[in-house]
Formats: sequence, C-alpha cells, structure tokens
Amino acid sequence: MQPFAPLGRDVAHRGQKCGHSPADSAATDCTADATWHILWTADGDAGLACDPHAAVARQRFVFVDFHRVGPDCNMPGAWWDHDRRRCLYPDEKPTEHATAAQPATA
Ligand SMILES: [Zn+2]
Ligand SMILES: [Zn+2]
Repeated sequence: MQPFAPLGRDVAHRGQKCGHSPADSAATDCTADATWHILWTADGDAGLACDPHAAVARQRFVFVDFHRVGPDCNMPGAWWDHDRRRCLYPDEKPTEHATAAQPATA
C-alpha cells in the first residue's frame, strides 16, 4: 500500500478547512473546519484535517509531525515549531528557543 498521503492540489486558499478531498476537487472537499495540522514530509508539505479525517490519515499514512490547529496554522510565513507543537511566526519565538527551530542558513 502506498504509505504516503496524496497531497492533492494546492488548497491554501481554503484557510483552515479540512483538506480531505476524495476526488481532489472542490466538489468533494470536506467542509469541516480543520482541528489537526499534519506535516506529511520533512520538506514542509503540510495539510489540515478535521477529527475523523485526521484519524483516518494517521492510520493509513506516514507523517512527520502533527498538532492541534492554532491561529497561525496554514498562514503564509508561519513556521512549524516541532518543540512547541504549534505553528507560529518567527518574531513570536521566545528567546530561549530562538535558535532551536531555525533552519540551517550557512
Ligand atoms: Zn474532513
Ligand atoms: Zn500548524
């Protein structure tokens, strides 16, 4: 069985709605508000899911990390913070963790 989740088309314009879409089309998009943010790949491919669809996805697919949807999830420029298990903007990082989640820039 294919272990990787089908990422589907770009649905960033749907805000924080569940990204489940069986036919990968607007007609089959789940209309529920997302409650989980799932990081599918280490490259940063992430998706949003409601409770039942997150449960299905976590049974069927491999993923890197997940957390409860917060106000910054799926927003342009927000960072996935593995330590704090949420998304946030770089200027909100507490100083004691400021270097922990920085990508390598050298
Ligand atoms: Zn859903
Ligand atoms: Zn998030």
